Amino acid sequence: MTTIDKDILGSRLPAEGAPKVSFVSLGCPKALVDSERIITRLRAEGYELARKHDGADLVIVNTCGFLDSAQAESLEAIGTALAENGKVIVTGCMGAEPEKITAKYPNVLAITGPQQYESVLDAVHRATTRPHDPFVDLVPPEGIKLTPRHYAYLKISEGCNNRCTFCIIPKLRGDLVSRPAADVLREAENLVKAGVKELLVISQDTSAYGVDVKYATSTWKDKEVRAKFYDLADALGDLGAWVRMHYVYPYPHVDDVIPLMADGKILPYLDVPFQHASPTVLKRMRRPAAQDKALARVQRWREICPELTIRSTFIVGFPGETDEEFEFLLDWLDEAQLDRVGCFRYEPVAGAESNGIAAAVPQEVIEQRWNRFMARQQIISARRIKRKVGTRQQVIIDEVGPTVAKGRSKADAPEIDGSVYVTSRRPLRVGEIVTAKIERADAYDLYGTAGF
Ligand code: SF4
Repeated sequence: MTTIDKDILGSRLPAEGAPKVSFVSLGCPKALVDSERIITRLRAEGYELARKHDGADLVIVNTCGFLDSAQAESLEAIGTALAENGKVIVTGCMGAEPEKITAKYPNVLAITGPQQYESVLDAVHRATTRPHDPFVDLVPPEGIKLTPRHYAYLKISEGCNNRCTFCIIPKLRGDLVSRPAADVLREAENLVKAGVKELLVISQDTSAYGVDVKYATSTWKDKEVRAKFYDLADALGDLGAWVRMHYVYPYPHVDDVIPLMADGKILPYLDVPFQHASPTVLKRMRRPAAQDKALARVQRWREICPELTIRSTFIVGFPGETDEEFEFLLDWLDEAQLDRVGCFRYEPVAGAESNGIAAAVPQEVIEQRWNRFMARQQIISARRIKRKVGTRQQVIIDEVGPTVAKGRSKADAPEIDGSVYVTSRRPLRVGEIVTAKIERADAYDLYGTAGF
């Protein structure tokens, strides 16, 4: 959960007596970007953000509906906001199924679905006295960020054309809608001008970018840029920031982007949500991209760019998953030698087609499989991270302490990957990129010295 803090409100103060809005942001980075957009609009109109629900004019809760546990957390946040304030607007993924909210909380002021910024703003206008003057000049061109100043998520599209059986996101967010390349690049440039050093490219399916608009071109700095994964990566690589690619499926055209990584134009990092390796499970999951060729693809990527870090997520205990299918997955992990891996236990999300596809795997079997999966991958991850000992790595500093700073190498995305702990003779600054000599590694993190 992201709570909104005064530090992100910008340096200038809103007008005296401006209505105050308290904001709760739940869910994934895509939801966080939605929150940023709503807050940017609110601040542009002169609303003030409140630290607490109590004393605010109203509360907005941006919900997550991906898993049942996320829905429960969202309902709890709505209940807290109602108890502490009483005037609550609900938006985000859960807003696509309003009856789930009204059944428990019939007295919320309004419910809107994901990306319905205008509807959220309309509901705020109805519930408060709108500030007299639009304080457009209060908002910096890059908008209001909920992430630290030195990195930012860059959402390039909404929705998804795939229909994975375990996922209700297309139901909640609709089909793929890609942003024009020039819009994305303009936003990215503003972020970099405002001090952002690392751009995290996100969407539901990044490598499908532009398919919906037939890779339409738009004009960026007197050049025509196609809304295509390669072209966007190439143009973003010219902005002088680290560019990290998330949610990339192993389609053949991803091969073309790897040389940009080998050339240092974008980070040698790919977040590829494989979810499973067994062809029969993948078929039941209805996953995009030819997964049977995924191993060969991973090997080719590494030949082109030996520095490449591959992160992925998997699901164990998918309905009908047999012992053989699970063993296939473990063997595949040994072959693929992925660097960073997350694993979810299958959860029967209400409304997901997969729940009725085959018999549910018993909970204790899911638990055993999860433990075996994690143990197997931990050995692989530890072996791969140890290869960094003795090398020099660029590290972006996230937090500073009295003697040690915490940062990330090019192989580590914020929130999900490991850290690099850096000692230095001089004080380091948040957002600074330093070169560190790596002296030690444990299963997830590296330890080194800067300024050697
Ligand atoms: S690719 Fe599959 S899992 Fe990802 S958002 Fe689309 S349907 Fe859901």
